[in-house]
Amino acid sequence: MSFEIKEKDLLARIGRIRTRSGTIETPLLFPVINPVLRSIPPRNMREEFGFEAIITNAYILKKRSQIELEENGLHKFLDFNGTIMTDSGAYQILIYGDIEVTSQEIIEYQERIGPDIATILDIPTGWKVTETRAQETVKETLKRAKDFFNSKTREDILWVGPVQGGKYLDLVAKSAKNIGKLPFEIHALGSPTEIMERYRFDVLVDMIMTAKMNLPIEKPLHLFGAGHPFMFALAVALGCDLFDSAAYALYAKEKRYMTETGTSRLDELDYFPCSCPKCARTTPKKVSELPQKEAEVFLAEHNLYMCAAELRRVKQAIRDGRLWEHVEMRAHGHPALLQAVKRFKKYQDFIEKHDSTVKESGLFYFDSIGLMRPGIIRHEQRMAERYTPAKEAKILLLVPQTRTKPFHRSKNFVDLEKKLGQWIKDSNKIHICFYSAPFGVVPIELDEIYPLSQHEVALPLDKETMEHVTIQVADFINRANYETVILINDRENWKESVVNSCRKACLKKKTEFKLVNRGEKQKRTTLAQLERILKENQD
Ligand SMILES: [Zn+2]
Repeated sequence: MSFEIKEKDLLARIGRIRTRSGTIETPLLFPVINPVLRSIPPRNMREEFGFEAIITNAYILKKRSQIELEENGLHKFLDFNGTIMTDSGAYQILIYGDIEVTSQEIIEYQERIGPDIATILDIPTGWKVTETRAQETVKETLKRAKDFFNSKTREDILWVGPVQGGKYLDLVAKSAKNIGKLPFEIHALGSPTEIMERYRFDVLVDMIMTAKMNLPIEKPLHLFGAGHPFMFALAVALGCDLFDSAAYALYAKEKRYMTETGTSRLDELDYFPCSCPKCARTTPKKVSELPQKEAEVFLAEHNLYMCAAELRRVKQAIRDGRLWEHVEMRAHGHPALLQAVKRFKKYQDFIEKHDSTVKESGLFYFDSIGLMRPGIIRHEQRMAERYTPAKEAKILLLVPQTRTKPFHRSKNFVDLEKKLGQWIKDSNKIHICFYSAPFGVVPIELDEIYPLSQHEVALPLDKETMEHVTIQVADFINRANYETVILINDRENWKESVVNSCRKACLKKKTEFKLVNRGEKQKRTTLAQLERILKENQD
């Protein structure tokens, strides 16, 4: 099997996986088909809703042991010619404690009915379990995974190796490391369903990242039971490539209507906030007057449209290099999601390492949540580890950022350069750097490099962002060896924050510190003041 990666953003990938029934594109959602109910015909999943693949449960199929299925194969039986994945019954173990089938039987059965992607029978850890029990589930899952390679006979099915461990992250790490060593085509993270039902998306972030950091990154990762479209962006950003979900149908049964940011009860809605082919033609009132079964199908279909649309938005965001912005937007749909995004901080270095350095679009910085972004971390690290100013530079001139980018082309700066032209051009003595949110210090010779001039920032800045920049400025002064630091203070946006941190850093470093206050009205005074200081320092 090959997993061919076409586009990357954060840990997300648009990629292609070849299966026996065709190539599928990630990130991909497999709607769960209940083989007994089939309230929406599997064929419609592709033709009407555009899902290239579906998932169904091999354990439920086996229990009903239909001769027709074994003779004709799964695709004919379900009347679906796209990619079909089977789950093994692990979820049933979680719900019922145990099931009447062995691991070996369910492997053989899946090979007989012929899905494109199949799952070994793992033991899900679940949520409310002791560490000892969690250990057992990890151990038994690994044993079954190893045994599996002695018994598989077909080579045209892609097999999924699930990672267990639940909320015990050291167990998740151990499980991922061991499962990752086995030649599964796809890896999966098991038992997140209960965690998602409890809205503990922050724990989910820990689980996904622990699995991700311990599995081979080049293989696709499936997240079992990812329910709601409002968390797709989050999971995709952390590198989940595949999902399956029964939520569209389960929610419909409870008369719940999915939106991009949450769920509404049908009877609470006056308007449908959606223009899918279902919602566009009717009203919540009319739908609630339908017979129970019809209303349920309506909701299930709307929910599917909603899932498909969100997945397309996520994919376009990856293509545009705007997945972070999309994740932030979704995070503001529910506090539990924002809490989860705050947890990214713990993994920011890993995310930075795997993110692409140049993107299609500039970066939108809203507030300090964005400080964890790879582009910002990267600049900070490169400045600290790789950047040294020229030896001849004796004076550091710190100039505030401007709305125009690159900064050195702004009118303010061009005026300044005109005035100071002789010194700046004639000597390498003066080094000009911009102080800018959210990046910190931007040396003039770098200010056209992505994303230093390809970004937009919301002003006024929040406290954390200002603090971040002042720390960057102080660190920069501390690392370099200037004799004098001249700061042009933009009081309107920075108050005294940069002044204070510069003064402190200079004092510590025994560097001379000079301050020029900039004001729109006294632009001439600012320049005159600066000229005077520079003249004093000329020799
Ligand atoms: Zn709709």
